[in-house]
Amino acid sequence: MIADTNRSPFAKAHMLSAQVRQEGGIIGRRRHSAETSMIPHLLDIFSDPNSFFHALENFRIAAGESDGEFRGNVYGDGDFYKLLEGMVLFGQDISAYASLIERAQEQDGYISTKQIIASRKGQMVRHADQDDFEEYNFGHLFTLTAAACRMGQGETLLRVSKKAADYLYNRYLMALKDKKAMSAVCPSHYMGLAELYRLTGEEKYLSALKAALELRKYVVNGTDDNQDEIPLYEQREMRGHAVRATYLYAGAADLCLETGDRALEEVLLSCWDDMVNKKMYITGGLGALYTGASPFGDLINAKRVHQAFGYEYQLPNITAYNETCASLGGIMWASRMFQLFPDSKYIDFIERAAYNLAFAAVSPDGNKYFYENMLRRTKEVGYFLMWPRERSDTFKCFCCPTNLSRFMAHLPQYAFFCGDDVLYTGLYMPCKAHISLKNGAEFDIEEVTDYPWDGRVSFRISACNGVPFRLLARVPAFEGGGFKELDINDPAIEFDMTPRLIRAHAKLEENESSVCVMRGPVVYCAEMEDLSGLYLSSNAEFTSGRADLAGESVVVLKTKGWRLDSTPSNLYEEVGGAALVPEEISLIPYFEWDNSGFKEMRIWIPVRYDVK
Ligand SMILES: [Zn+2]
Repeated sequence: MIADTNRSPFAKAHMLSAQVRQEGGIIGRRRHSAETSMIPHLLDIFSDPNSFFHALENFRIAAGESDGEFRGNVYGDGDFYKLLEGMVLFGQDISAYASLIERAQEQDGYISTKQIIASRKGQMVRHADQDDFEEYNFGHLFTLTAAACRMGQGETLLRVSKKAADYLYNRYLMALKDKKAMSAVCPSHYMGLAELYRLTGEEKYLSALKAALELRKYVVNGTDDNQDEIPLYEQREMRGHAVRATYLYAGAADLCLETGDRALEEVLLSCWDDMVNKKMYITGGLGALYTGASPFGDLINAKRVHQAFGYEYQLPNITAYNETCASLGGIMWASRMFQLFPDSKYIDFIERAAYNLAFAAVSPDGNKYFYENMLRRTKEVGYFLMWPRERSDTFKCFCCPTNLSRFMAHLPQYAFFCGDDVLYTGLYMPCKAHISLKNGAEFDIEEVTDYPWDGRVSFRISACNGVPFRLLARVPAFEGGGFKELDINDPAIEFDMTPRLIRAHAKLEENESSVCVMRGPVVYCAEMEDLSGLYLSSNAEFTSGRADLAGESVVVLKTKGWRLDSTPSNLYEEVGGAALVPEEISLIPYFEWDNSGFKEMRIWIPVRYDVK
């Protein structure tokens, strides 16, 4: 379970209390890779005292068990907690790490290693710099604790987290009295405090969440970058840093699940629509911009944004920023929105971002990662982009890989959601679960499918206690959306997996006269040495077949397309006699790209339309 809303008064759907057992399919393969390869690999990196990241060593120094200086990222504690969350959810023993974290904690509950190490040298540097990510570190500790408690490993961490949350609670009450606030960046602690409240039932943690959000209105000199230029309750569109935004709104959704705050729900609904209808990539990527001025500023008071949402329909492909964590934050927000408003469109987002962003952000062996997720790669760009254009073993800002590791552990819990007498299907995957609904219905369910390669999904229901329930199968957006009630005696559903050509809104300039190929929820791309001048036909017919790519069995596509016999090399050139010649085009699932050398890749491909 990722957010336990079973007792949340305003949740209309909940995640399952029971673990979903999942094996097989592409989801199973990616999870196996995460458990057996990605997590050990990341643990090695975070444990190595000589590595840049220095995360475990920072805890040892903070605990007084090793000498040295704080090194690595100020948000390294939080990233380490995310790794531990993945480990504990995969059933791995984290007790030695939990004890170390407890030994590193200050008497008053404070816990963030950079500041603790400084205080041991007589320097008081707590809460001096917003960009020290202290509350981000607290937040991921709380979320880790909730996961550990569910897996029977939470005793030590719960002591640590309660002390830490008490510290935040007292700090926030004081700040509210003084009407003085500094917004935290990447506010994972909103979700974390909500989960700690649900775990312990202690009202003060809900109060701390309320206070943390209320304090945002006392921020002076706020910026779009941190979503505090405009008061939270007046926000209606996605602005600024995409991870900060999705973490903020996921935490705000958690508050709505507990308090039913209608005004805040309006904020969330409006921002969500703005995001998915005007600012989201077809991959589920969020945050188009690298670094610059907020497009929503004015001429004189332009303020910096980075890793941020741009204007409506401003979605460039080569320079798409799309931090992996932003889409993972979007998934966390979507899962909470579904629990507030059980609409299949929120699961569609989770599905889109899982297959086309999260799976693309990590290599099939689990050991290489994208921080930013481009939709097009050309061999030469002619300008500097701050992130590598191929997956890397490590990079300095290493927040995304450990976020991916816990996401892979979370995946089975997106298979089902439940209402009082309803079981909703979420992401389709082969799995088994024991279901216990609020109306008393209990049964075992097994899901059998080769989705997303095959459109058939069937269920086997057994050990039913006779209390009636409904099984509502999600109809993906590509099949019209909504839910379809299945016959409990023969529950099955089938979706059309014929490849589809997708075009973008006319205002999305970069994709004008281009199309993207999708099959089911999977976005396809062309990946070749040279993609210049490639065209698809608007009436393209595809042949599909299974292929083994990087050790994974996937469906690949072929179609007859075209290529320009010359492409311009100057900024502007006469067309001359340029003409199209036929060419066969192969397409692979986008999440399998960058596994076969440094080639060109594109998702959006120019299209040659028929004439009526
Ligand atoms: Zn990240």
